[in-house]
Amino acid sequence: MREAARRAPESGQGPSPHNPPTIAILGAGVAGLCMGIRLKKAGISSFTLFEKSDRLGGTWYDNSYPGAGCDVPSHLYCFSFEPNPSWSRKFSLQPEIQDYLDHCALKYGLLKHIRFRTEIASASFDEAQGVWRMRTTTGEELSAHVLVSATGQLNRPHVPKLLGLDSFEGSTFHSARWDHGHDLAGEDVAVIGNGASAIQFIPCIAPVARRVTIFQRSANYVVPRFDRAYKPWEKWIFRNVPIALKLYRASIYGRLEARFFGFFRDSWVGKKLREGALAYLHERVSDPALVEKLTPDYPIGCKRILISDDYYESLVRPNVEVVTEPIAGVTRRGIVTEDGSSRLVDTIIFATGFETTSFLAPMQIEGLGGRKLAEEWSTGAEAYLGVALSGYPNLFLLYGPNTNLGHNSIIFMIECQVNYVLQCVQQLMRRSLSYLDVRREAMDQYNEQVQHAIEKTAWSAGCHSWYKTESGKVTNNWSGFTVEYWWKTRVPDWGAYELVPRA
Ligand code: NAP
Repeated sequence: MREAARRAPESGQGPSPHNPPTIAILGAGVAGLCMGIRLKKAGISSFTLFEKSDRLGGTWYDNSYPGAGCDVPSHLYCFSFEPNPSWSRKFSLQPEIQDYLDHCALKYGLLKHIRFRTEIASASFDEAQGVWRMRTTTGEELSAHVLVSATGQLNRPHVPKLLGLDSFEGSTFHSARWDHGHDLAGEDVAVIGNGASAIQFIPCIAPVARRVTIFQRSANYVVPRFDRAYKPWEKWIFRNVPIALKLYRASIYGRLEARFFGFFRDSWVGKKLREGALAYLHERVSDPALVEKLTPDYPIGCKRILISDDYYESLVRPNVEVVTEPIAGVTRRGIVTEDGSSRLVDTIIFATGFETTSFLAPMQIEGLGGRKLAEEWSTGAEAYLGVALSGYPNLFLLYGPNTNLGHNSIIFMIECQVNYVLQCVQQLMRRSLSYLDVRREAMDQYNEQVQHAIEKTAWSAGCHSWYKTESGKVTNNWSGFTVEYWWKTRVPDWGAYELVPRA
């Protein structure tokens, strides 16, 4: 099936009603798998998923740190067309999510479409032939009529360039590249960062390590997770009463969607959310000095709200310390903070997040007339509906710019995008097009609206977050309710596109 994206488009076999385009999907994570499944369901098999790792799963394969799990309830964090009545708990852990994705790939016959250990380094659009010419990191040349990027927003670990880091003689690794061969038992461990990843593994390593020192740059709002295992009778109902499963999923969706009211700047719901988060902090932590360190100084929602039942408990352990003094540098044996104090550590774990705003990097993408995407996005990535890019025909993005969420399931957004891209592919076939290219005016107008709406949200408040560029432009998050996004993407507006027939 590899041939799908290699089949020579020069033969003149462009898309037509009986001839689907060849499609290259970059990434075999949740979005790439969803795209593949929907194509198969539509009777289109001329696609290949190129996956740089040796296993599918994307972020769920990469993030296998202790305690890794999803902070969206599992019955919503799965495909609408493939419910899983057997989720063991409300918030599943990584191995169960990986199993689910493996199951989907197997059930829908995707494995033969995936090329593992294949990373696309560059892609340029050949206008004359209406194909994307790609080159892998090993120099192999490939081509496809349609290019679908499903590389996600959180796939390249960010490791800060700390002064002296190279001289450190202990071990270091990033949370998304967990060194499972490394035993932390009895060690002095430094954790840099306290985001969604850190708060999941710190409760797991704190009872094992001799000492855990958390270097926190800014505090986060934490709310309880209320996680629990499903009871056998609940799973029986999910398995045997399909309508109950559907209603349950819908109720989770509705509850999470309503949370967006709290993400408008200075909203009453946001105020209540903040009060709830601070009450939870005071309930779990009694030391006033620690409470002060853990109290955020920015509006709730500006950064991702964290959910955990056990993070605060781990912070009050005698062997755990939260350091808020900025890091000055790293020595051979430890970490020095700006107040001059130093702490000896055996291992440094970077829970410092990802390179989130340089979408598609390090791939080099060239569109019509040799335009370079990296240059066009130098002031911040943007796309039409987060999916299409003017000047880059037949290139579609899944989980692209301004499609991330802080309140609901990203799988909902991905399904909207996949549904949209599928219709674009079908349009290429129906009209025997060489390519379709979104008009610049449509894209600019759309992004003006998105940025205008974002100004009213907590994302644009004053805090440092992975949702925005250094200059403060919010490039990652969707600006409203997910139902608005669904409405905008349910059917493409062909008037927004230039439809170019085959010569
Ligand atoms: P993150 O939220 O970006 O957190 C990175 C942490 O590292 C922050 O505390 C940040 O501090 C700190 N940091 C970054 N550079 C630093 C530096 N130079 N010096 C000191 N501290 C530094 O990354 P993450 O925790 O990996 O989570 C990323 C996203 O992945 C989440 O927001 C979420 O969307 C997703 N995720 C989801 C789940 C889940 O579903 N359960 C789990 C894990 C991750 P500042 O806050 O000051 O920037």
